[in-house]
Amino acid sequence: MSANTDNTKACEAVPKSFDSENILARVITQVERELIDAWKEGKPLIKLFTTKTNHYFYDTGTNRIFSCTPFEYEFLKNLVSLPIQDALDIRRYSYGPDDFIAGLQHIGNLMKDKNILRASRIHLEVPKDLDKLVHNLLGQIILETTERCNLRCRYCIYDPSYSQKRNHGNRDMFLDVAYRAIDHLANSSSMKESIAVSFYGGEPLLRYPFIRECVKYAKTKIPEEKLTFSITTNGTLITREIADFFSENGFGVHVSIEGRKIFIMKIGFIPAEEVRSRKPKGEWNISLMHMVKKIRTELA
Ligand code: SF4
Repeated sequence: MSANTDNTKACEAVPKSFDSENILARVITQVERELIDAWKEGKPLIKLFTTKTNHYFYDTGTNRIFSCTPFEYEFLKNLVSLPIQDALDIRRYSYGPDDFIAGLQHIGNLMKDKNILRASRIHLEVPKDLDKLVHNLLGQIILETTERCNLRCRYCIYDPSYSQKRNHGNRDMFLDVAYRAIDHLANSSSMKESIAVSFYGGEPLLRYPFIRECVKYAKTKIPEEKLTFSITTNGTLITREIADFFSENGFGVHVSIEGRKIFIMKIGFIPAEEVRSRKPKGEWNISLMHMVKKIRTELA
């Protein structure tokens, strides 16, 4: 009996380390295969960067930013500068097998599910007049007029449930900052036929007087025939006066309406009471629908 117990212990101990080596080897092989397969045209362009608290990489192919662990950061850094096999060599890192396996699995999953690390570098001849082009081809600035918003959508990127992002704040853009941005646009766009000043938030219409000032200023700096304006807004603060202002200044107005299918499909076509009876979550959806309907009717 006691011999059996000892044998059992011995048997448990061997497969454990055997398993972990197996997992390590399997994960390395899988990721190596994925990388070799994805990089037939050469390694992709990614940009690694850190903030005070987090590590990130920007993937050019998907045009997305991903957060990563310190190990993943170091691994990706090696991956773009070394042969794949060298970057996958665990002896190069001060991290243990658990971090190594978890990190590689995460990168492997992102490759499979999100298609990262697949766009290869584009090889371009650098034009001789690159400086001139860079300083004359700016076509748009987006002014983040305020961090404040009059709504609190649950899916909002600034919702506290996204722990790694900033939350709704109270800061507003200073007018002199906006003026300097417009000056920069005016001075860097001589080769553009169309030049756009866009307003973003939070909810930019919380700062309607600020927007008016920016529009007035931009018109003194940029030829009117080239100048266009646009705004991304939740639409709830649009009044007749604001709608007229948009119309007079040729604004492109972007209102995104997101939420349950019923709101998207039925907006403007069924009475509010009927919508209410279907027990929607969040009263703001209803007020937003009313507002959009009102704008439609008034501007028709
Ligand atoms: S309206 Fe836009 S900025 Fe405001 S809470 Fe909703 S998603 Fe966020």
